[in-house]
Amino acid sequence: MRIGFGYDVHRLVEGRPLVIGGVDIPFEKGLDGHSDADVLMHAVADALLGAAALGDIGAHFPDTDERWAGAEGADLLGSVAGKLSEAGYRAHNVDATVVLERPRLQPYVPRMRTVIARCLSVDEGAVSVKATTHEKMDAIGSGEGASAFAMCTIVAMDRDG
Ligand code: MG
Repeated sequence: MRIGFGYDVHRLVEGRPLVIGGVDIPFEKGLDGHSDADVLMHAVADALLGAAALGDIGAHFPDTDERWAGAEGADLLGSVAGKLSEAGYRAHNVDATVVLERPRLQPYVPRMRTVIARCLSVDEGAVSVKATTHEKMDAIGSGEGASAFAMCTIVAMDRDG
C-alpha cells in the first residue's frame, strides 16, 4: 500500500461556472483556470499520482496543451485512474477537504463522492469529501478563491486486476 497527498488552489472569478468534485454548483462566481479548474478533482488527481510517484497533473495535463482546455475534472481524474492502472496500481481510498467561504458545499458532497467514486471505480464508502470555510481569514476566507487538500491510498493490482 502507498499513500499520496495532493493540494490545489484556484481563484474565484465572475463569468465562470463553479464546478467542484464534478458537481455544478449555482453561484455568482466560478473557479478560474485553463481547465474547468475543479479544485477538488485536481487535488485528488495529484494525491493519486503522488502515491504512485508518477509526477503531478501539471506534468500530465500541461496548461499549454489545448487538448485540456476546458477539460472536466472528472475526465482528468478518470485519465489519472488509467495511468495508475498502467503503472499496476488502483485507488483504495480517498479523503479530501475543500476550503471555500461561500457557498455552502454540504448539500453537494454526496454527489461529489458519487462522481469521484465512479471515476476511480471504487465504492462510495472509499471516498470521503469534507467541506470547511477559512473562518473569513486570508484570501480564501475573503472569498478570493478555493483550495482543496486530498490524501489517498493506492494498492498494487493483482494479476487479474
Ligand atoms: Mg488546479
